[in-house]
Amino acid sequence: MDRPRSPRLGPAMHELSIAMSIVDLALDEARERRVTIDAVYLDLGPLSGVVADALRFSWEIACQDTALQGSRLLIREIPVEIHCSTCNANRTLDSVQWLCCPVCGTPALEVIHGKELAIIALEVRDEQPAAAPRSA
Ligand SMILES: [Zn+2]
Repeated sequence: MDRPRSPRLGPAMHELSIAMSIVDLALDEARERRVTIDAVYLDLGPLSGVVADALRFSWEIACQDTALQGSRLLIREIPVEIHCSTCNANRTLDSVQWLCCPVCGTPALEVIHGKELAIIALEVRDEQPAAAPRSA
């Protein structure tokens, strides 16, 4: 790689747009349920094409100046699991470089897990007027 023009922004642009759509979804939910969102739980598979670290990095930027500012993004990284037709068994892969059965080497035709990119839960707080103000 020789000197990308914007090394800081370049690789994360994709994740930033993903982060922003997750923020949008969460904001809708927050409005509908009249709650404040403290944390968003996300399932993320390596085959989704989204890099967890880049997404974490983008989260703060995506939340800026929204009701989600200060919220956390908690990513559960889902390992890749394939079904091997030769072994007739499901196998978890350590590497996503080779989508082959780690036992017999048959190329995986069927991916069971690893493509996930989904909000699985929101940690929310009721939006209530502060009845008991915190001690200052
Ligand atoms: Zn196999």
